[in-house]
Amino acid sequence: MKTRFAPSPTGYIHMGNARTALFSYLAAQAAGGDFVLRIEDTDAERSREEYVDALREDLLWLGLPWQEGPDADKGNGPYWQSQRDAIYAEYYQKLEDMGMIYPCFCTPLELEVMRKMQAQAGLPPRYDGRHANLTPEQVAQRKAEGQPFTLRFRVPKGEEVVFDDMVKGKQRFKTNDIGDFIIARGDGSPAFFFCNAIDDALMGITHVLRGEDHLTNTPRQIMMLKALGLPIPQYGHMNLILGTDGAPLSKRNGSRNIRQMQSEGFRPDAVLNYMARLGHYYENPAYMTPAELGAQFKVENCGSAPARFDEAQLHYWQKEAVMRMDDASWWEWIGAETRALVPSTQQVAFIEAIRPNTVFPQDALTWAKILFTPLAFDSETEAAIAAAGPAFLTAVETHVKASYSDMIDAVKTASGAKGKALFLPLRLLMTARHDGPEMAKLWHLIDSEAMLARLGQVMTVQEG
Ligand code: GLU
Repeated sequence: MKTRFAPSPTGYIHMGNARTALFSYLAAQAAGGDFVLRIEDTDAERSREEYVDALREDLLWLGLPWQEGPDADKGNGPYWQSQRDAIYAEYYQKLEDMGMIYPCFCTPLELEVMRKMQAQAGLPPRYDGRHANLTPEQVAQRKAEGQPFTLRFRVPKGEEVVFDDMVKGKQRFKTNDIGDFIIARGDGSPAFFFCNAIDDALMGITHVLRGEDHLTNTPRQIMMLKALGLPIPQYGHMNLILGTDGAPLSKRNGSRNIRQMQSEGFRPDAVLNYMARLGHYYENPAYMTPAELGAQFKVENCGSAPARFDEAQLHYWQKEAVMRMDDASWWEWIGAETRALVPSTQQVAFIEAIRPNTVFPQDALTWAKILFTPLAFDSETEAAIAAAGPAFLTAVETHVKASYSDMIDAVKTASGAKGKALFLPLRLLMTARHDGPEMAKLWHLIDSEAMLARLGQVMTVQEG
């Protein structure tokens, strides 16, 4: 099996096309096959080299390396469509020799009028074939006059294109519903339909997984490949991803580009565990390594109903991934600002105590500030701590250097407090929060001077 990801470098990759890349990658992994990266940069105006660099970095960050593609030519390159003009020219020629394509001299205005008339007559918009049968003399004359032209594929009439979609099942398209379509633009550049199909065939792609927005392109591509006697891959069109509001996933309802997720602190394995389940079902509900995700991926488990993006699910996998980081990576991940707050003698204890409570690096920063910078209580917190009473607070004060268990025993004995009445004032005193990491661990992270300063705020209030 050979799959591919064929992005157009006109922007950063976002969740939608990252999922397309992921499923293609996983399908190849599952079959022990190869994953190809091909850059579809035929739109010279919108394609940018910086987006090519970015998408390569993003794929590698996610952990989706390609076995074939830029930097890994396996004899099928170049892998930039902008460098394959000579190859496309050869196939235009073949189609021309077979009489399968013809030049169309319609101007954009003419095509617009055609569409309007069809709309008025209640007909679907379709090229009406008006230049399909110009004589060689007419063609020569128009060319001599310098009239610009596109190349159109001559769609056979009265046939049916049938294929088994790996995700959506059997698909049938009547060729009479498909107008002769453009395979080379007015400036001579190849149209998407054309070079995408030619490259899949020439690069030996056996399975194409892509978004369902491409479903109607497929019969056109099959017709061309058939005409050229080139191998036709198996196609699978993946369901759409919807946002929480039910509209297609976009920036407005939760989609982000992969760079942005990386800078927000998302872990690549969290993104993979989440996305591999977005419209694909795994028997195994647990966290999986990228290798396991690959081994257990099944194209037939791709659903054809729209998948719904769910931020809470993504955060669940993020937590799972953070728990699995090694200490060194976690320490790196939390960022320089946080690292600078943690005394070096406390580094190991900090990691152990705080990691279970971090979903994003920002959480570690919040806890580092609580533990290692002066903590000011609001009046409500102050009152809640003071309510524990002088005996309680004095016991904490005198045992400020004791171990957590000795301090707890002393407080219990002095105040008689237990359960919530014992633990809540202590937690508030240490963190000004109602919940958080294990208190025994926090106690040893907070410097005794800092603890006395916190007690001081509350005890002053009591006395005053
Ligand atoms: N360049 C196309 C896109 O980004 C590729 C479509 C395909 O996967 O066939 O939509």
